[in-house]
Amino acid sequence: MLKLENLSLRFDDHQIIRGVSFDVGDGELVCLLGPSGCGKTTTLRLIAGFERPEGGTIKIDNEVVSAPGTAVAPQKRGVGFLFQDYALFPHLTVAENIAYGLPDQTKDQTNQRTGEMLSQIRMTAHADKYPHELSGGEQQRVALARARAPRPRLLLLDEPFSGLDTTLRTKIRRETRDILKEQGVTAIMVTHDPEEAMLMADRIVLMRNGRVVQTGSPRELYNEPVDAFAAEFFGDVNHLEGVVDGEWITTEAGQIPNKNYPDGAAIDVLVRPDAISLGSEELENSLSKQVHVCAVDYVGGSSHVRLGFSEEIDDAEHITARHPGPFDAAIGDRLQLNIDQTKTFTFPKLEDV
Ligand code: ATP
Repeated sequence: MLKLENLSLRFDDHQIIRGVSFDVGDGELVCLLGPSGCGKTTTLRLIAGFERPEGGTIKIDNEVVSAPGTAVAPQKRGVGFLFQDYALFPHLTVAENIAYGLPDQTKDQTNQRTGEMLSQIRMTAHADKYPHELSGGEQQRVALARARAPRPRLLLLDEPFSGLDTTLRTKIRRETRDILKEQGVTAIMVTHDPEEAMLMADRIVLMRNGRVVQTGSPRELYNEPVDAFAAEFFGDVNHLEGVVDGEWITTEAGQIPNKNYPDGAAIDVLVRPDAISLGSEELENSLSKQVHVCAVDYVGGSSHVRLGFSEEIDDAEHITARHPGPFDAAIGDRLQLNIDQTKTFTFPKLEDV
């Protein structure tokens, strides 16, 4: 439906977008995710036509809307927007707000489309209310309806929930996703919050420093990150130093199978804290090793257990496990460490790349 190929853009001397490519399918909800300043909003603005790329192509429904020498005007791209400051017009009713963005058409057509949109967001009964008479969640739904009323081919959402408080945000994310999915809307949403992207997206495009790092389903990005940045972006990781020795990578926590790194290579071994379990018995496992408890922090819902590898307590080398619920252990207790290898990732140490 949407295809971005090798987009690039610079502002003054700064290369902001560096060869960005990705596709969005019909009815798909794609999240552009990444740290502040990585170029997410700029990518959205390129798609909308508010910025012109210095290189690359953008196609919507196979129509080239942007390419060297071609630039379809933003209002002709069939794109709708929902931005963070989704402010509704305070002096217009809900119905009037929704009708505002509709192109010139007969009164009957306008009323019919407004009625459809009100029903889709389940707010028919609130048609004559003013924005200040609505909750934050209801206002957000009206803003969504207003953006969708002119039937855009593609909806662009830029951090649409960042103005909402935490409790409301969770509820509204779910409601928004339900409405978009029920209506088969094709949408791209910018967020810097990995949890939000995981919750909302069919697919995530993870960006860093103007580049796409990885594209895939939330599960793929969490379970099969392509590099340490991607692994760390989705949750805490422990870093272990590994060295390749034939078929194995040797770390302080034990050995893991070597994929295809050369002998002697230094490897960054990343282990998610929830990949670590602790018991009293040694298991038949190359990643089973005795450790001692250095500290236990109960953080409500789970415990962070810091573990040391050496004989002495309080040594510098630690690995942190996340244990669901409270964890009963005394400092110095010796336990058997077990690591789930499916939540362990290996990458060449950067200086070796
Ligand atoms: P955030 O999550 O903080 O909004 P982002 O990933 O959306 O970040 P962008 O807003 O796309 O990032 O900005 C990327 C970079 O481009 C930033 O360093 C920003 O300062 C710069 N930038 C954006 N717009 C302009 C502009 N019009 N002129 C110059 N630099 C700009």
